Amino acid sequence: MSKEVRICENCGAKNSIDRLECEACGSDLSFVAPVFIGEKGEAKWRIKSTGGSVSAEIFGGETIGREGDILSDYVNDSDYISRKHARFDTDGEKIFVTDFSTNGTTLNGEKIPKNQMTEIKNGDEIAFADMAFIIENAD
Ligand SMILES: [Zn+2]
Repeated sequence: MSKEVRICENCGAKNSIDRLECEACGSDLSFVAPVFIGEKGEAKWRIKSTGGSVSAEIFGGETIGREGDILSDYVNDSDYISRKHARFDTDGEKIFVTDFSTNGTTLNGEKIPKNQMTEIKNGDEIAFADMAFIIENAD
């Protein structure tokens, strides 16, 4: 079962869609578009390092970064990755990435806009600062 949530842009908390203020920090959620997040076992997407040594499933709502939800041990090796560098969201079908970082995120070599959801597709190469990954559809 996937469920619809509003993810706070300030603190990353997942709020139920009927909340217009973040439960954790009180930030305004009225302009935050709801997204679908999945549950374990439902992942359709996977992110893996370009060398293939590490990977993680993406259910929706995960942050990546030195203090992120996924691959934090691995990206800790980079001095250029932010604590919460970017977030993955899915609508149940498509997958999106939002950059929050200091040093940026590139998609197939092009820098993506900050604080804005960008759709990513099967086989895309995504780089958080100096660390590159491939997105795979796990279907
Ligand atoms: Zn919040």
